[in-house]
Amino acid sequence: MATLGEPKNTIEILNKYHFIFQKKFGQNFLIDTHVLEKIIRAAEITKEDLVLEIGPGIGTMTQYLCESAREVVAVEIDRNLIPILTEDTLKDYDNVTVINEDILKLDINKLVQERNAGRPIKVVANLPYYITTPIIMGLLEAHVPLDNITVMVQKEVADRMQAGPGSKDYGALSLAVQYYAEPYIAANVPQNCFMPRPNVGSAVIRLKLHSEPPVQAKDDRFMFRLIRAAFNQRRKTLVNSLANSPETALSKEAVLAALQQMELSPTVRGEELTLAQFAGLSEMLL
Ligand code: SAM
Repeated sequence: MATLGEPKNTIEILNKYHFIFQKKFGQNFLIDTHVLEKIIRAAEITKEDLVLEIGPGIGTMTQYLCESAREVVAVEIDRNLIPILTEDTLKDYDNVTVINEDILKLDINKLVQERNAGRPIKVVANLPYYITTPIIMGLLEAHVPLDNITVMVQKEVADRMQAGPGSKDYGALSLAVQYYAEPYIAANVPQNCFMPRPNVGSAVIRLKLHSEPPVQAKDDRFMFRLIRAAFNQRRKTLVNSLANSPETALSKEAVLAALQQMELSPTVRGEELTLAQFAGLSEMLL
């Protein structure tokens, strides 16, 4: 395989098709074979797996996925890339399907039912950074059967997903991701591994789905409303954030009573609470 991870091969394809990068689609193509190998390793792909790739670009990572998985479905929004993929870079593989669609509009649960009999799939992507959070939260909240999601994201987003209580990066995204999955940062990736170079640093993060949620929340939607309210105004105490929030409509007295019952200080801030404590608080305030 003449890997597109070699910059000269990528340039050759881009020139051959007179491809013009579209900023609005977050197009930064990978041109580093070591990073590609690291992503494939982190995703722990086997010949049993159905892999969903979001945004294949010119097919650089898709080629690696086709070599290691049973079947690959690659969803690409930019129709200018489709002929490059189907007529050129992926034409030698019979285990890949390219779909020209916006990933946010695709019924992924249906795809998993049809192509993998509802068994967990793996999602691998060098994500378009402008929609990282909606893509990841969309997959998690739709309860798509997943083994893991292994993706390249902006470095600071990876840090936020992995952060724990007390860290400056800890917030609603950390808690939402950690409710569903265990995050692990597999690599930090510098700007020069992409064409064109992005303005930010990147990281590969693997989210391994929990088989059981780590905490029990009677109503997880209410818990997440509490969490969003708690981090909306970071500098406020938890009591003030929750009592002032239209998300929760709680009285100051009710929040103070719940904190006392949980043996938490009345001046505690949201960023000090663990996921288990947010779950406990939501039980009490429901
Ligand atoms: N996987 C390729 C690589 O690593 O070289 C390209 C990665 S590039 C960061 C992101 C890709 O996602 C681009 O090909 C872009 O056109 C595609 N994309 C952007 N928005 C998308 C969407 N809503 N649905 C599907 N693909 C999208």
